[in-house]
Amino acid sequence: MTVRIRSALDTLPAYAPGRTVPGAVKLASNELPFPALPAVAQAVAGAVGTEHAGGINRYPDAGTTALADVLARHVNTTTDRIATGCGSVALCQQMVLAVAEPGDEVLFGWRSFEAYPIVTQIAGAVPVRIPVTGDHALDLTALAAALTPRTRLIFVCTPNNPTGTIVPRAELEQFLDAVPDDVLVVVDEAYREFDTDPDSPDGVEVASRRPNVIALRTLSKAYGLAGLRVGYAVGDPTVVTAVRKVAVPFAVNSVAQAAAVAALGARSELEPRWAQVIGERQRVTVALREFGYEVPTSQANFVWLPLADRAGDFAAHCEERRVIIRPFSHTGGGGARVTIGAPDENDQFLAAAQSYPGRR
Ligand code: PMP
Repeated sequence: MTVRIRSALDTLPAYAPGRTVPGAVKLASNELPFPALPAVAQAVAGAVGTEHAGGINRYPDAGTTALADVLARHVNTTTDRIATGCGSVALCQQMVLAVAEPGDEVLFGWRSFEAYPIVTQIAGAVPVRIPVTGDHALDLTALAAALTPRTRLIFVCTPNNPTGTIVPRAELEQFLDAVPDDVLVVVDEAYREFDTDPDSPDGVEVASRRPNVIALRTLSKAYGLAGLRVGYAVGDPTVVTAVRKVAVPFAVNSVAQAAAVAALGARSELEPRWAQVIGERQRVTVALREFGYEVPTSQANFVWLPLADRAGDFAAHCEERRVIIRPFSHTGGGGARVTIGAPDENDQFLAAAQSYPGRR
């Protein structure tokens, strides 16, 4: 006799994290290429608490009270509208668990964040992938047309990972008008701080008017805390309460809570870093286009090269030149996603891209 495992796991896609190769530049996971700010490092040391027995020997604040207070001020709302999680990916899973019965449908664009189908299937729901447009943008018309009575949740990722495209505010509103009030729409804004498009929506503001919308944000990207795992969702208290109910207890650890509070308080020191990433994104985009690549305009901290079935070959070429990027298979729109790193890292990548024989 062997242990009986849920059959839903047989078809569960594996999450493929960006690879770390010693000695190579890593442009594969959309991280910020800067070390921790001194204030954040100090908060981490303080939370570890080597001076007294009030540090990591104690459980964290399960309600993440201090962090929720800071977040509420940060997005100008109240703490009953905020759920925190072990990275925003955990909140993605909690949101599906909160609204979908087994067999219910979860809609999202494809390609989009590759964890969406995984968290959907873990919850026993059915992923429905809607291809992006020829311009690599989410196809909201097709998403609306794919709604069925079984649809319980829709992920709208803007800027979209991995294509970098945004959903304009007016298009989002029109789409939301077409979605039934009892279907949850998650506006995933993981890359929002890098988005300079004036037409972009503000998910928190949209959620303040529409109780079936929840905004999802993270401290992993612009706030530089990918290793500590803190995300948050902002929306209707009824949805937020349900999302909290399905969390693993103590999911956000005490060191992460302290670091997140410090990082949120250091926005003025982070903004120049975001500006550098945005400037480098422009430089990398222009150079790649000059080399002959198609590069959709990105509002995130990465660029997308829709290389179709050449993506794997391109990634191997870059790796030979000590640059690790993220290829996605041709199934469902293949391409290579390249994170914007420090200027010298971007130079190393551009040299690799320029020498790629299959670039045109
Ligand atoms: N949403 C999107 C669109 C992402 O790209 C990512 C990270 N790749 C996440 C959510 C999850 O990030 P985290 O769990 O680190 O907050």
